[in-house]
Amino acid sequence: MKVCKFGGTSMANSATITQVADIVSSDASRAYIVVSAPGKRDGGDVKVTDALYACAREKNEKGNCDEAFAVIEKRFLDIEKELGINVGMAKELKAIKAKIEDGAGVDYIASRGEYLSARVLAAKLGVEFVDTQDLIKFGTKGELLLDISLDLLRARLADIPRAVLPGFYGSDKDGVVRTFSRGGSDISGAIVARAVGADVYENWTDVDGFLTADPRIIDHPAIIDCLSYKELRELAYMGAEVLHPESIFPVRSAGIPINIRNTFNPSAKGTMIVADGKQRATGRVVTGIAGRKGFTIINIEKDMMNSEIGFCRKALSVLECEGVSFEHMPSGIDTLSLVIRDECLGGNAQKLVGKLRDALGADSIDIHSGLSLIATVGHNMASRHGTAATIFTALADSHINVRMIDQGSSEMNIIVGVDTFDYEKAIAAIYYAFSE
Ligand code: ASP
Repeated sequence: MKVCKFGGTSMANSATITQVADIVSSDASRAYIVVSAPGKRDGGDVKVTDALYACAREKNEKGNCDEAFAVIEKRFLDIEKELGINVGMAKELKAIKAKIEDGAGVDYIASRGEYLSARVLAAKLGVEFVDTQDLIKFGTKGELLLDISLDLLRARLADIPRAVLPGFYGSDKDGVVRTFSRGGSDISGAIVARAVGADVYENWTDVDGFLTADPRIIDHPAIIDCLSYKELRELAYMGAEVLHPESIFPVRSAGIPINIRNTFNPSAKGTMIVADGKQRATGRVVTGIAGRKGFTIINIEKDMMNSEIGFCRKALSVLECEGVSFEHMPSGIDTLSLVIRDECLGGNAQKLVGKLRDALGADSIDIHSGLSLIATVGHNMASRHGTAATIFTALADSHINVRMIDQGSSEMNIIVGVDTFDYEKAIAAIYYAFSE
């Protein structure tokens, strides 16, 4: 049995929804379908979720949301009419608008795209609509209560063989709607897949699969046919976006594979994400290359640092007290570097350096901003010699200065820090060094 999640571009208009319905109907094992709100129909269009956030802002500023809500109304009334279904859309929309103008919370407002989208697809397929509002639960800090949600979903879906469910939202202990972060329907789909014990979680999007590198940098990069959860986690964390990074956890522990598929090219096999790296069919050394801009490195130097017990702890305590998380901490005998995301520093780099200086009695502390990180990821790297040599030769041949090196202990990734002005050049150099 399969759980499918269809993203915003798949649900964008009546034609794409018809395509979604065809995909679902073509395979009887596609039992539970989780949907996003309608996304952009073309480059200049607006996502329904963004239009809903605009409603919330307009209501705050003007006391009503007439202008922004008109966009939502038109989208959904057109979809209902063009699909030839009847979900009482005009009435639904009227009730939602009244709630917004009555002061409904922003999460409730944002969630209505998924709610209406699921109502539409359920009607088109002639299957039950199951609301996730009281089935996916959040704690007081907005954290997902996974076990409770799994139990609730299991109980609710036990006697329902096929259903459409809205992604992106659930509710807190008082039943008030709460959403995941943006793109969170991926997480909803994963939770449903885990709850019903799916054989596979199909995540339908608008690309043929996970790419080996960013297509804005590399022309037509290859599709990864199979990768492990660990590789996905590394690549997604470093900016390769197809799935919401948190969507992996609910399915990984149950060993449920995720299959990334393309609604607009359903015959393509897509990318299979599996629990164990050994299951991967590919013999490629490098599975993918991904990177991120926007890091700062703080270099700390102190004579005899290596024999000073507790030095790292003191440095990390400063970060903890200042609420700053770090990404990497490469160290030498008398040096320690902290690699931190710019958004975490938020303009407080000098203050942080001052605190580190006070706490550590370092000989010198300097900051270098404008850093980008690039991860070269692949399970097969661990069993081969020469991978690092290939990466560094490629970078050297392209005259790129490497400012930081970090290799995870699993040996499945090598991360290099380069100046941001070298970022694209560095990705291309590494990519072509490994392309067979
Ligand atoms: N509609 C939400 C968003 O645009 C959630 C999702 O599509 O996954 O972020």
